[in-house]
Amino acid sequence: MEISHIEHIGIAVKSIEEQLPYYEGVLGLTCYNIETVEDQKVKTAFFKVGQTKIELLEPTSEESTIAKFIEKKGEGVHHIAFATNGLNEALKEMENKGVRLIDMQARKGAEGLNIAFLHPKSTGSVLTELCEHPE
Ligand code: ZN
Repeated sequence: MEISHIEHIGIAVKSIEEQLPYYEGVLGLTCYNIETVEDQKVKTAFFKVGQTKIELLEPTSEESTIAKFIEKKGEGVHHIAFATNGLNEALKEMENKGVRLIDMQARKGAEGLNIAFLHPKSTGSVLTELCEHPE
C-alpha cells in the first residue's frame, strides 16, 4: 500500500452553518460542496486546503456516530483520511498486519470516494480512514 497524501481531515461539528464564519470569514477558505451522506446520517461540508480537504461533519440524527462522538468528546477532530490506491488490497494488507478494520470492504463515502475505516484500537486512538478515487 502506498499513501500519497492526506485526503482530508474530518471534524465533528454540531452545526456546519455556525462554523462557516470561521472557515470562510477567518481562514478565508471556500466551502465548495455540502452534501448529505444518508447511510452515515451526516451532512458534510468541504473546503480545499492545497491537496487536502477539511471535511466538516454534522450529524443529521441522534443515531449518527458523529452525534455520539460529540456527546462523548465534544466537537473537534474526528478522523484523518489518507489517500491510497487499490483500497481493497490495502485493507487485506492491513488485516494481514493485524490491524483491526471497521470496514472489511471499501464502501461509498462523500464525494463518490471509496472509503474504509480502520479501528482506533489499532491506530494509536486516531480514527483513520483510507480512501481512493474510483477509476
Ligand atoms: Zn472522511
